[in-house]
Formats: sequence, C-alpha cells, structure tokens
Amino acid sequence: MYEPFLGNKVRQYVLDCVESGWISSLGQYVARFEAEFSRFCGVPYGIATSNGTTALHLALGVLGIKPGDEVIVPALTFVATANAVTYTGATPVLADVDPVTWTLDPESVRRQITPRTRAIIPVHLYGHPCDMDPILAVAREHDLWVVEDAAEAHGARYRGRRVGSLGDLACFSFYGNKIITTGEGGMVVTANREWADRAAFLRDHAMLKAPHYYHPEIGYNYRMTNIQAAIGCAQMEEIGTLLERKRTIAEAYRAGLASIPGLTLAPEANWAWSVFWMYSVLIEPSFGREREAVREGLRTAGIDTRPFFVPLHELPPYRTADPLLVASRLGAVGLNLPSGTPLTSEQVASVCRALAALRGPV
Ligand SMILES: *Cc1c(COP(=O)(O)O)cnc(C)c1O
Repeated sequence: MYEPFLGNKVRQYVLDCVESGWISSLGQYVARFEAEFSRFCGVPYGIATSNGTTALHLALGVLGIKPGDEVIVPALTFVATANAVTYTGATPVLADVDPVTWTLDPESVRRQITPRTRAIIPVHLYGHPCDMDPILAVAREHDLWVVEDAAEAHGARYRGRRVGSLGDLACFSFYGNKIITTGEGGMVVTANREWADRAAFLRDHAMLKAPHYYHPEIGYNYRMTNIQAAIGCAQMEEIGTLLERKRTIAEAYRAGLASIPGLTLAPEANWAWSVFWMYSVLIEPSFGREREAVREGLRTAGIDTRPFFVPLHELPPYRTADPLLVASRLGAVGLNLPSGTPLTSEQVASVCRALAALRGPV
C-alpha cells in the first residue's frame, strides 16, 4: 500500500546515533530536524514529538483545552484527530465534509458552534488542503483557535502557502506510511514563541531547568528520540523529490483512470496544490460493482488497497444523531490505491488496468 523511501543517508545518520551513544532524546538531530521541518513549513518553531497523536494532544494542551470544552473536527478523518480531543477531557463535535474536496465544510462547522466551542481542527485529508480562508473566517468571528491536522499533507499548499503555516498551530505525523517518516514521530509547528516553549515544557514532564526535579504541573513524555530525528533529517534531504514523485504518481493514475466510467478521481481544487498522500477514487454506483468487491478483485490481482476511514460517527465512541451525509457516503465508496513513492509508472498502469477490468455489468 505504501512502501517508505529509505535511502543511504538514513543508514548513515542512524549509525551516527548508535556510534555516538546519543540514542534517546538528547543529541544533535532533534533540534536540527525541528529547525529544518518548521522552516520547510514556513513557520519559526517546531516541537518534535513521539507521534502525530501526541503532537495533537500537546497542541490542544498548549491552548488549555479542558473538560467542558468542545472542539470541532471533521467526521471523515483518522480516529486520532478525535481521540486527541478526548484525551484533554473536551468533547469532539463532528462537522461534515465537502462533497468535492472531501475536507472540512465551513458551513457545517458554523452550524456546530455552541457557547462551549473553543477550537476547530481542519484535516488536510489524503494530502489535499482544506479550504482554509472560510474556516479561519468562522474561527475569527467566534474567537476560536485553529489547529491544523496536517498529518497527511506535508508540503501541500493552500493558495500558495504551505499547510502548517495557516492555523494557530499545526500537527504532523511521521509514521511509516506518511510523506516523510521517522518510523514513529510527529511535530507541532507554530509561529507563537510562548506556545512553542510551553509545548516543549509539557512534552518533557513539565520539568523546570531549575530546581532539579521540580514539576509545577502534570506534563507528559512525548519526546522524539535522536534516532527518529536522524531518520527525519535524512528524509528532509529527499522531501522535494518525494513530493515530485507523489505528483507524478497522481498524474499517472489520473491519466490511466480518467476514461473509466463510474470512478470519481482524487480532487484538486483550483486553489490547492495537493500532495496526494493516498491516491483515492470513489467507486460510484455506475461502476457496476461495489467497493468491497472491487477491493477483493484487486487483492486477487495482487494489489493491496485501503477503504476510506470509517466516519467517526459510525464508530462506537463517537456515535451521534447529527446527519453527516457526505462523510457517510464518502466513507462507503472511497478507495485508496497503492501510493508509495517507490511505485513505478508501470506498476501504476497495471493497477489502472486491473481496476478497469473489474467494471461490472451496468
Ligand atoms: C496518521 C494520522 C494521525 C496520527 O498520527 P500517528 O503518528 O499515527 O499518531 C493523525 N491524524 C491524521 C489525519 C492521520 O492521518
């Protein structure tokens, strides 16, 4: 589904950690990775974390989100977006997504705002940026924080600006199948110096520099290791090439699938530069075969796929009576095709041929 690209630099930098003995969170690579990745996003501060979920929890902690608060999240996202809200004791409130871009619908956000709402978490789903201007406008109107969940969209641009630089804070994941990886890992980026300091403090057991072992409040151990950051530094040397590969793979899919009836292809709004983290299609009724049958057919041809995320309101912890019709529909018909950067154009073409052959009688 998604093979990571791991070059020789990864080997070299990891070996450097082992040979120097700096294998925990002290060592040169963490600060270097934070500086390089935040600069890439166009934001002054980066706080590396153990994974993307802890990055989200830390960002919400910095904002003081607490029990009784509400945070608006899209109904169609990976469960970690909502779980991070739940960890603070606040309640995630689900908003629907846009039928064209599949990302948070600003009108639905507006309808979900209550006096308890404190923040919005737009998710740049499958590498496509959210329509941020109307979301930021709603946030300004109601005095809400905006935390981007950019876990799937490193390098994506909204009206020319990189994701990560659009909200108050933004969170990234460097899990093995993300656009760049550190094995497990994450980062909070922000332009606010105070928040950056507070995130670093909470990340490290809320430990003061002095006196020793005096913790004025409850913190976390959400640190990234030097080994993880070493992999991240090696990945940063390749990120431009990896993003080009993502775009080339997406274009090969588009060209190979455009003439097949019954498929809706991954969107790219005219204000967006998507990084197509996963190349996604919708299996429409006119395709003549349902998504699960298509997945089974591709599996038989040796091609692994993933369905879209199950919308949050269809999961036991987050069931709600609110109609979230677009998320429900996309969750039922969306399919992610193999998308790793090592994929060749021949492999993409063979996936397209296999998919075309599965079209049902209509
Ligand atoms: C991957 C992902 C996360 C969580 O990242 P982890 O590093 O796996 O904790 C959060 N949100 C979204 C949208 C993701 O895709």
